[in-house]
Amino acid sequence: MIYPDLRFMHAGGDGGPRSTTHVVVIHATDNTASASAEATFAQHRPDNTSAHFYNDEGAVIQALDTSHIAYGCLYHGNQISIQFEMCGLSNRLSDATMRKVAPIVARVCHDWDLPVRKIGAQDVRNGVTGICGHADITAAFPQDHGDHTDPGLTFPWSTFISYVEGASVQISDIDAQYLTWRVEAITHMFDQIREGPEKGANCDIVQTLKRIENELKALTAPSTQAPALSDGELNALAQKVAALLPQPPSAADVAEELAKRPGNG
Ligand SMILES: [Zn+2]
Repeated sequence: MIYPDLRFMHAGGDGGPRSTTHVVVIHATDNTASASAEATFAQHRPDNTSAHFYNDEGAVIQALDTSHIAYGCLYHGNQISIQFEMCGLSNRLSDATMRKVAPIVARVCHDWDLPVRKIGAQDVRNGVTGICGHADITAAFPQDHGDHTDPGLTFPWSTFISYVEGASVQISDIDAQYLTWRVEAITHMFDQIREGPEKGANCDIVQTLKRIENELKALTAPSTQAPALSDGELNALAQKVAALLPQPPSAADVAEELAKRPGNG
């Protein structure tokens, strides 16, 4: 998944599709470079080290599809994780840096069905899902001989988790896709009705849409939990559909047009 609203700078270390997703791994870059500089470096770095996201206080840059393997925490960790590099030093990441990335961490957890909770090395080893630090990955998989301890022993996990919990998760791609499809389907059906037997009938757009919505609900109910449209949503939809219909001329326009015609009357 590549989020279209984020800047994307493809990292050179792209391990291709990942089959397991258990954890979000939080790193600190342990230097003072910006997210843009880190992402630029990751495009060409000779050791192929990479992360899915780089962020500082001002920007979050995506560098890999979240369904791909990043090369950020050695073999076993890379196989199971989506990785975030926060720019700054371990134990000294700024509050603004943590707040900046929190909504994206929330979104990833939402989209990958990962609970927003801090887990430790033992949890990681046992396949428990959640959010952990690079340090936890290092401790979970000693066979990989890692030595990284970022984001540091005093990283404020409870504060960070509270930022992630508080971040509003935007409508997921799937939800947006479903709604778009529904509007398209209703628009299409309305077109058919407009050209069909009811053509010319003086039908109320909202009433017609309500009937179509009920039909759609019957069609899709077994496979989705889509809620019925509220009156407000129906009205919004009706306006959208009405905007697609050819505009009937106003009485004034007709009168003006008729008046222009020679020999009229
Ligand atoms: Zn790290």
